[in-house]
Amino acid sequence: MTDESGSTVALRGGGALSCLVCGNDTFHERRWQLNTAGATFFDVDFLNQSATCYVCSRCRHIHWFNL
Ligand SMILES: [Zn+2]
Repeated sequence: MTDESGSTVALRGGGALSCLVCGNDTFHERRWQLNTAGATFFDVDFLNQSATCYVCSRCRHIHWFNL
């Protein structure tokens, strides 16, 4: 489900994602490639792959998921 601003309801783990900061339930979905430098920066070398990020459409908090 996507509204006119391009934000969407994020379904993860069998339920709709709610923002940890403001409780909003619509997000902008992004796919980010975690290159070696990025993975090292976050100290998660085993995650040297892609991640899915949901950016809250209200407060812009980023929620990260491994794939
Ligand atoms: Zn939020």
